[in-house]
Formats: sequence, C-alpha cells, structure tokens
Amino acid sequence: MKDVIIIGAGLAGLSAGWYLRNKDILILESDSRVGGRIHSEKRGYYWLNWGGHVFAGENSPTDKLLKEVNVEARNVPGSLKSIAMNGKLLLDGKVEKVLYKVPMSWNSRFALCKAGIKVLRSLNQYKKALKRIPGENYWTYQQRVFNFLNDQSFTEFVGKLPEDADALFRPTVSRSAGDPEDVSAGAGIGYFNLVLSKSKSAGLTRNIVGGASVLPETIAEKLGEKVQLNANVVKVFHKEDYVVVEYYVNGELISEMAKYAVITTPAPITDKIGIDLDVDMKNALRKIVYGPYVSAAFLTKEEGPQLWDNIYAMATPKKSFNVAFNMANLVRDSESERKKGSSFMTFSPATLAKNLFEKTDEEIIKTYLKDLNSIFPNFEDIVIEAHAQKWLHGLPYCFPGRAKIQEPLTKPSGKIYLAGDYLGTFYTDTAIETGEIAANEILTKLLKESNI
Ligand SMILES: Cc1cc2nc3c(=O)[nH]c(=O)nc-3n(C[C@H](O)[C@H](O)[C@H](O)COP(=O)(O)OP(=O)(O)OC[C@H]3O[C@@H](n4cnc5c(N)ncnc54)[C@H](O)[C@@H]3O)c2cc1C
Repeated sequence: MKDVIIIGAGLAGLSAGWYLRNKDILILESDSRVGGRIHSEKRGYYWLNWGGHVFAGENSPTDKLLKEVNVEARNVPGSLKSIAMNGKLLLDGKVEKVLYKVPMSWNSRFALCKAGIKVLRSLNQYKKALKRIPGENYWTYQQRVFNFLNDQSFTEFVGKLPEDADALFRPTVSRSAGDPEDVSAGAGIGYFNLVLSKSKSAGLTRNIVGGASVLPETIAEKLGEKVQLNANVVKVFHKEDYVVVEYYVNGELISEMAKYAVITTPAPITDKIGIDLDVDMKNALRKIVYGPYVSAAFLTKEEGPQLWDNIYAMATPKKSFNVAFNMANLVRDSESERKKGSSFMTFSPATLAKNLFEKTDEEIIKTYLKDLNSIFPNFEDIVIEAHAQKWLHGLPYCFPGRAKIQEPLTKPSGKIYLAGDYLGTFYTDTAIETGEIAANEILTKLLKESNI
C-alpha cells in the first residue's frame, strides 16, 4: 500500500508530490506530459508558451517552491499596460493617455473616467483585503478575498458602458476567463490590481527563465518514477481505513491502495472521480465555473529591433484575442545585443475563446495573424512557427456568490484531500499553496500514525 496517491501532475499535484517526496507516493497524470495548464516549449534562446506564464513574487509559496527545486524566476520586464486600440498604439504603458490619444467618442471618454475612478477607489479596499494577517490560516484568508464585493458582477458595479469604454475594460476583467457580466466585481478589481501594479502586492510578477514548463518538468524529473504519465484515474474512494484509486494505463484497469489521496484535477473531474466525497463538497464542486481560453504561440525571425521589444503585455480590444504577450521579453532584458527573432503569445478568454472553439487550429492561427498584421504591419511575414491550443477548463473564475461555497470545499473529507487553483484566488500560487497544505496535513497524520 502507498502512503499517498496524488491525482494530476499540474502545479498543485507536483507541489503536493514535492512536499511528500520522502514518502512512498505515486502521482498519476492522464496526459503524456506534466504541467497541466502550464505549457511552454524551448526554441533556442526563446520558448513558446500557451498556458500560465506570470508567477507570484518574493515570499510566496511559488517563490519557496522555485527556490527548493532550484528554478530561476525573474521580475517581468517591460510594460504590462500597453494598448493597441482603434488604430492607435500606446506602447509606454501610461494608461491615462488612453483618454486623449485613442480615438473614441466623448461619451466613451466620460464613461471611462467615471468607471475608472470607481475602480481606482475600490483598488485600495481590495489591497487591504489582500493583505494576509500574520499567522492567518490560508482558508480564512481566501474566504476574506472571495468575500470582497462578491454580491454583484463587475458590470453591475461599473454600470453599462458605451462601446469603446466597455472595449477597454473588457480585456482586463475577462483575463479571469469570465466576461465582466459574469465575474464578481471584487474579482474584476483584482485583475486591475494585477495589471496596474507591478509591486509585490499585485501578486503575479515573475517569469520563469526558460519558460513556465521548466518548473513542472524540473519537479517531475526530481520525483522520477513517482510520476506516472498516461494514467487516467476514473475512481477514488474510501474502503475500510484506506483509499482505493482506480486508473487506466494502455486500456488496462489498475487498482491501487493508499493511506491517503490528494485529488488535484479541475473541479468537474474531481467531482466525477471522487465518488464518495462529502455531499456538500460535491455540490460545491459542481458550482465552480470554468471559463475557456484559446491561446497561440508564434516564433518569429526578424533581424532587428521591433516596436514590441519593451512591452510584455499589450491589451488589444476589439480583436480576436484581447491580450498579446511578448514572451521574448526576458531574453531581451538580459542580452547585450538584440538577438534575431521573438516569441509571441495571443490570448483569447471567455466569449472570445467561445468564438474560436469550433474553429480548427489552422483557422485560429489565420484569424490571429490577420489581427496581428493589423497591429504590427506584415507581422505574418516574419512568423516561422505558429500553434494554437484550446483550454476548455481555462480558469475557474470568481462569480457573484462564489464566496458561499468556499467552506464546504475546504472541510476535510475523510482520507481524501483536494488541491488546485479553484480553491483560492491566486491561480498558480493557489495551486502550489493548496498542494503544500494537503501535503503538510497528510505528513502530520502519517507521523501521528507511525507513533501509535
Ligand atoms: C492560457 C492560460 C494562461 C494562464 N495564465 C496564467 C498566468 O499567467 N499566471 C497564473 O498564475 N495562472 C495562469 N493561468 C492559470 C494557471 O495555469 C492555473 O491556475 C494552474 O496551472 C492550475 O494548476 P492545477 O494544478 O490546479 O491544475 P491543472 O494544471 O489543470 O492540473 C490538473 C492536472 O490533472 C490532470 N488530470 C485531469 N484529469 C485527470 C484524470 N482523470 N486522471 C489523472 N490526471 C488527470 C490534468 O491533465 C492536469 O495535468 C493560465 C491558464 C491558462 C490556460
């Protein structure tokens, strides 16, 4: 019998695995690679990226894990607030310039000012909610962040906006994978905090050198045979005083026993495979809402400096993607002479993703290139590689009323623990922290049992 079986080798599963590495563990992953919603691939100096890419900064659970496994992360260089809209490029990230540089109606400018002031005022309250009280339990802390303006949607909070004002707000809020009409006001404001502030309080401030997948791949390499790929878990349940995990490998059904299990799959899968989880927990899992993402990675071959060289993120309202990321920026920041080429990522959340989901990958790339050409003329001519990826469970977004289901999700359910980004408000950092919490609770129990 194993000490612990962990289901899923995304960041939550690998974090749990790392902190339980000295025990007899097995991590079962249905895919042929580790990382889940982290997905990058090396290309020379650069890396292509399709999934999560900005990570929490100093003193975060992510920082601790990065240091333990010896993976280097650096502060994101360049502007996070560039904008391309209505034919105008604002590269320096001075968002106030939008008001007088981007062509739009006076009605939109006025609405933008009014809604902007409302959001900025709430940012300070959000930052207060975000401050962790020393010694505060993670679940209490997260409950507090979920509670923040959780009784209304972002659209209800700012009011219905005219077209251009709405187009400017939408890319930031819908990065959550939900549209402003569906995301809670508090979560929408949280995204403005992420974009407008590069400070530690903003949360996500770092890129991983070599690409995001370096983190999951390094952990998996260190865990070696404890990680099994292509293992599709179908059932996890209690039997007598242990847990049974049933999974398929190459069409063969395998049943394995463990003293404990940690399920780190997205909520709908956790509900499906965790057949005897607490009823309230299962009901809460069913209420978690994921929005879709579509992303694409582009490798380019240009020889000289480009307009995008000093930006990291550019909002692109009214395009098929609403943010473009310059994934080469970390390389740019440390080179003495500009190397040939770049790596780009386009990103379509929520309704934009739904509009692309039925298209083939080729059609998605064609659609993206048309819009990239309209921002950076002839961009298409320098592209040497392009690949799209669809993410059905892109991100669990915080909807009005989400705060109410936090308690049943986090209460113990026998010998089966849950971990994953849907349990908190900080994406990769929540995945890593909840994996660590599950591991620590199990370690304490295993220690107690060995002393009996
Ligand atoms: C395009 C995109 C951009 C993003 N950008 C950012 C960002 O910049 N910063 C940030 O912090 N977050 C970002 N995120 C979110 C971030 O990637 C996730 O929050 C995080 O990676 C979730 O980790 P997880 O371990 O909870 O879940 P997952 O990564 O989904 O891991 C779950 C794992 O379980 C496996 N699995 C599923 N079913 C089974 C089964 N039956 N049996 C066995 N294994 C199974 C899956 O294959 C997967 O590997 C982004 C996500 C996407 C898609």
